[in-house]
Amino acid sequence: MFHETLTHAGGSSKGTAKESHALMLMRRALNRGYAVTATTGGGAEIRWGRIDRLTGNSVVRSIVLDPQLPAENLDARTRAQLAAINVGDARHVVTADRRYIDAGGTEIPTGETARLRARRLVAVDSKGRVRLTLVARLALLALDHTQVGGGTDGLAMCSCGFTVSAPAGEAADETLRFHRQAMTARFIESLPATYAAAIADTH
Ligand SMILES: [Zn+2]
Repeated sequence: MFHETLTHAGGSSKGTAKESHALMLMRRALNRGYAVTATTGGGAEIRWGRIDRLTGNSVVRSIVLDPQLPAENLDARTRAQLAAINVGDARHVVTADRRYIDAGGTEIPTGETARLRARRLVAVDSKGRVRLTLVARLALLALDHTQVGGGTDGLAMCSCGFTVSAPAGEAADETLRFHRQAMTARFIESLPATYAAAIADTH
């Protein structure tokens, strides 16, 4: 579940968005050519410009999706576990005395399995199949593309290795911002129909 904040001419309005609705909003935004950026908390920011009919000025509108339970402190071990689950075919195994996730042969211990579920980083369906939540996937994406360094020296670097140099630091930062938007767009476009279906199936 996400908090949804829509900024419009009259101010802003708040609501909540289910996972499926959040995905729909991001897809629709891409179709309209809006900028979508994943956040490290596992949310997304959608921004677009439009011309104000009264003043003729261009104004920025936005929809910000904040997870009700943000993804925080994703350490290397948690990220590795989420990556293993995301490969596919992960199952929630329930025996007489244990409950754990089997991620393609990698066993995630009971306590950590419980924590991943409590933190809403994974979702388990009625057949025991495990998937990453949209929050987890957006957070991992954003962590893969966080800016390191940059600023006034005209050089900006992304944690994925992408580097921009520009005569002015601001321009380099802006190119990196476009890079993060492009990576978010690629992620949303590459989500398989099965994932969207699994999200739609989650209650
Ligand atoms: Zn990057």
